[in-house]
Amino acid sequence: MDNKKTLYIGAHADDVVINASITINRNPGSAYILTITDGVPSGSYPKVLGGITLNSHEAYVQKRLKEDKSAMQVLGINVGKRYTNGKIPDGQTYQNLEQIVSIIATLVKREKIRRIMTHSFPGESHPAHPDHEIVSVCSYIIGKEYGIEIWEYPRFKSNSTNKQTDRIFLEEDRIETVNYDFTREEITLRDELMQIYKTQGFIIEKYRTTSEMFGRVVRNPRSIPDATHFYGSEDYKPRPQDIRKAITDFLSR
Ligand SMILES: [Zn+2]
Repeated sequence: MDNKKTLYIGAHADDVVINASITINRNPGSAYILTITDGVPSGSYPKVLGGITLNSHEAYVQKRLKEDKSAMQVLGINVGKRYTNGKIPDGQTYQNLEQIVSIIATLVKREKIRRIMTHSFPGESHPAHPDHEIVSVCSYIIGKEYGIEIWEYPRFKSNSTNKQTDRIFLEEDRIETVNYDFTREEITLRDELMQIYKTQGFIIEKYRTTSEMFGRVVRNPRSIPDATHFYGSEDYKPRPQDIRKAITDFLSR
């Protein structure tokens, strides 16, 4: 990647590091980080995660942000200036499209961003988290409005033990891809970064990798494939039709 100012967007406070940590580490001077949600679904407290006792929703939110900022600092990001969290409630991105688009637009204008790295667009090949897909749609809306190139992270396939087995782009994509293989030092760094996320202990095993890949597609955010699994499995609220309506309403505003 060249030195274009790049906004790395993640729906949750571990998505950017999972998808792009070594790429950021190779060129932190051009990197800006935006996580959209507070990363914490509703639940009961206290709870213990990774040996850490969390007494409230807010405590968990702050812990997740702290983990993500610590990792970004290791990567050379000045988190006071280059790290933004959108504070959108986890799982509710579909109800906040206007705000998400506005947050991205503000950063793009203020920092003169030339490239956005974001989640995969909704599509047929493989289900994804609904927050990821909404964030992708919002990124493409801004990309189109400001003439900024958009690159996607691949989707993950995992096996029955919840380990990532493959990373894919949508089958219908005609796409330009880049792949960056890690050096031995970078493989070690990647593992060390994953260990910072104590409350998300599963990610080091699930997302262990020795390379990062990105795909560039020109998409029309108004043309969203009608995938049956568009919004993930049933345990995700809201219902698919709620989300589709939210996107349609927003785009016809
Ligand atoms: Zn996520």
